[in-house]
Amino acid sequence: MATKNVIGFPLGGNKAHLRDRTLLIPEMNRTGANLLAATFRSFGVRARVMDTYKGLDLGKEYTSGKECYPCQVTLGDILHCIEKEKEDLGDSFNPADYIYFMPESEGPCRFGMYNKYQRIVLDSFPGLKELQILSPTNSDAYSLGDILAEHQEQDFRKTAYFSMVVTDILDRLLWKIRPYEREPGMTDAYMERSRRSVADTFEIYGRKKLFGKIMDKLEEIVEGAKSIVDPTIAPKPVVGIVGEIFLRMHDHANQDLVRVLEKHGAEVVNASLCEWVNYVSYDGLRQAKREFLLNLKQLRLEPLKASLRKMIGFGGDLLYKEWRQRKVYRRIRGLIDIPEDHKISHLEHSLKESDLFSFDLRTEACLSIASIIEFARGGYNGVVNVYPFTCMPSMATSAVVKPFLRKLRIPYLDVSCDSTIQPGREAAIRTFMYQAHQRFNQSQ
Ligand code: SF4
Repeated sequence: MATKNVIGFPLGGNKAHLRDRTLLIPEMNRTGANLLAATFRSFGVRARVMDTYKGLDLGKEYTSGKECYPCQVTLGDILHCIEKEKEDLGDSFNPADYIYFMPESEGPCRFGMYNKYQRIVLDSFPGLKELQILSPTNSDAYSLGDILAEHQEQDFRKTAYFSMVVTDILDRLLWKIRPYEREPGMTDAYMERSRRSVADTFEIYGRKKLFGKIMDKLEEIVEGAKSIVDPTIAPKPVVGIVGEIFLRMHDHANQDLVRVLEKHGAEVVNASLCEWVNYVSYDGLRQAKREFLLNLKQLRLEPLKASLRKMIGFGGDLLYKEWRQRKVYRRIRGLIDIPEDHKISHLEHSLKESDLFSFDLRTEACLSIASIIEFARGGYNGVVNVYPFTCMPSMATSAVVKPFLRKLRIPYLDVSCDSTIQPGREAAIRTFMYQAHQRFNQSQ
């Protein structure tokens, strides 16, 4: 499927020309966005990460308040970025020099509407019709065939996926080390430096897929991080975070949730970035299998062949991702005890066993509910579900898991976010952490 520029034209016309433009990447996960930009640069695409949260007022000005919060945040980011470019470049500013990267997703929730709504807003500014939006979609596993030369696409996808696994490893390392650091601020400073040096290695080695070189750098970072830990600090209650991916990952939008939990004595494990990316391939394979069986029943030969091709495509993609992820985790877990990431098939199995929800309903709810079951089995001392105010899949998660966790006496907290500062928020987190400490002490 061709990637569209959201005003209806395929973005594939003149690839060389497209590659001359600057690709603007919004920041969801700070590490992830920077590694992705470095990967793009490695493949010759001029890419950079936009400042985030500085344009929130603009985002709010051009939305009605009914949109999902991540839509407001990212709209503010692109408007702020353009405003700043205009200011810096003056008369030589040309909106046609930019492409804004905003992936989308099909399905019952509203993520697929962000780029369409943002297109309408951009079009309302003089000249910004020329600024294109690149919207790879989950229906073709986020193919980027229009911005990269055909022979590069496979390699790019492999390196981009690898950058996401490395992002998860760096995040897990941060959450493992920071609650036990020798001096406040050491981990943040160390991880900021590490993030930059890993991005440099991606820029140098990404295109050639010299992952061994990047792994060497990662190992060096892990070894260095171990020296930050104060071994006299006693273990702390472990709290798992699930929820909507943007809010889980975006520290400004979730009002520094991980840090606030740590301040009240938690060691945190947030669901990973790769979870969603793996789920996209898994869900694609699931849908293709269904189509295949239906076409087989009806003996429709051409559609049968098409669904078989899809099955092979999504299946191969999933196998590769799981293999790559396993390989990286095995090597890093040999150095430090960070939690393993779960397989999506395992999550579906847990969900079926519990009979709480179904993968047929899709969205992040099936991932969040299944992850909570895994947290409960893994002896976590509390669970937090973080999401944008009115987020549909996350509210479904909340409704389903509350009775389940109450029965198991596992503390649970919903953290619904918009841009307002809720006065009772910290008190709620403190109370939740008090319960998590009690549960932790009982299990000792
Ligand atoms: S997951 Fe929630 S926040 Fe994201 S698009 Fe869907 S409803 Fe909106």
